[in-house]
Amino acid sequence: MSGRRWITHAICCAYANWNALTEIGATWTGASGRPGSPPRTKSLDTFDFKAIPSLNKSLVLELARCEWIERRENCIALGPAGTGKTHTALALGLAACQRNHSVLFVTAAALVRELMEARDERRLRLLQKQLAKVNLLIVDELGYVPFTAVGSELLFEVISRRYENGATLVTSNLPFDEWTSVFGSERLTGALLDRLTHHVHILEMNGESYRLATSKKRARKAGAIAAPDASSHGPAEPKGGATEAD
Ligand code: ADP
Ligand code: MG
Repeated sequence: MSGRRWITHAICCAYANWNALTEIGATWTGASGRPGSPPRTKSLDTFDFKAIPSLNKSLVLELARCEWIERRENCIALGPAGTGKTHTALALGLAACQRNHSVLFVTAAALVRELMEARDERRLRLLQKQLAKVNLLIVDELGYVPFTAVGSELLFEVISRRYENGATLVTSNLPFDEWTSVFGSERLTGALLDRLTHHVHILEMNGESYRLATSKKRARKAGAIAAPDASSHGPAEPKGGATEAD
């Protein structure tokens, strides 16, 4: 499917079940952002809350009941890389799908790209309308890529139109006071945060990267097994950060 059709396709399919989120996952998620990357569906069943004590578990479980989506509120997950923001967002998206809500999961960079393309091709109004209709819009990875002035304005318009009309979940590696570096304009960032944070649930996800912690644990285990032999070589070190492809 051509890039420009992704979003329309995703919305027109009126995702309302597990397969739907998987399909969105196949099309929209992944650090690569490439279509056709393996589907990534995550659920809360596989989430280890003990690994991230800063996260309010009861709030996450409450959000998974989806009443906030019916109330058209927002949710923002904040924390450094690898702390489970995308996992949690996908899990909440899945919970919403299972309750027959339409869900669109997209990275901030891909969404802005889509909006710019739609604008160039004179179909922006249609896309904006479609984006406004989705029950839950998940915008992942806000903060890694700064936007152009036009990109910022287009994303602002999406958030603005959804204000009190639909639920939006944003994940970001940046604290609010650094969001200006993404949107370029202090005025626009202020206006965007004003709308986004009016009815909001904040998920604080500060801690060590789960991937890094897992790699370290694995390396320690390997070191322990190799210990009788490895006394002259010192302890085993992790060979690199992430071992799980996203
Ligand atoms: P972030 O979006 O914050 O950068 P991710 O959600 O992509 O982090 O998490 C990175 C990897 O670690 C994913 O494979 C995710 O499933 C896993 N992960 C992160 N935190 C947890 C956790 N608390 N329990 C289980 N898996 C986790
Ligand atoms: Mg992520």
